[in-house]
Amino acid sequence: QYLLSLINVTEMVEQSKKYKHNAMYDNLTQIYNRHKLNEIIVEKLKKAELLENKFSFVILDIDHFKIVNDTYGHLVGDDVLIHLSEIIKEQIRDTDVFARWGGEEFVLLLSDVNIDTASEIADKLRVKIELEYFVEVNNITCSFGVSSYEKNDTIDTITNRADKALYEAKESGRNKVCKLITKVE
Ligand code: GH3
Ligand code: MG
Ligand code: MG
Repeated sequence: QYLLSLINVTEMVEQSKKYKHNAMYDNLTQIYNRHKLNEIIVEKLKKAELLENKFSFVILDIDHFKIVNDTYGHLVGDDVLIHLSEIIKEQIRDTDVFARWGGEEFVLLLSDVNIDTASEIADKLRVKIELEYFVEVNNITCSFGVSSYEKNDTIDTITNRADKALYEAKESGRNKVCKLITKVE
């Protein structure tokens, strides 16, 4: 005597795919989330150390986004975030990495470019965003902070430099690109 038990696993497989997707991608914009980005940065740092594969780190933050939400509502704000990520996706190369850092902040990892080239790329994006039409809101601007791989960098040091540069871009009037290099004594 045998008891045959058949289970339809289709739903379980689909569910598992969904969990994997959600672990990597931001729910709103469908670009990489911060968790996935951190994994990629760790890999890139290892490669940079071993193979001298340089890369740059760009953080961008929408200027006065709170006013956008307060004026037009959170859903319009969400559409701005989606639209903005679409524009950036179109502009970057396949080898670049694009992720949502959190809230209205995004990060780009630009492969094989030094800090000056990365700043030029960021500035082109800045202009592109400034000239773009966003539904209801019309225009937005973004501020950018740029850092580049330096010897012995960790995830904290490379992100902190970009963060400081972003702070400077905000402080000096917004809609700007600032970069930060560690001073060599
Ligand atoms: P700053 O130029 O200094 O960056 O000003 P800001 O208003 O952009 O910065 P602040 O940190 O004061 O506000 C960020 C706003 O971003 C507040 C928050 O509600 C909004 N925000 C964060 N995540 C989301 C989101 O997923 N959707 C929407 N619609 N708004 C979001
Ligand atoms: Mg912010
Ligand atoms: Mg902001």
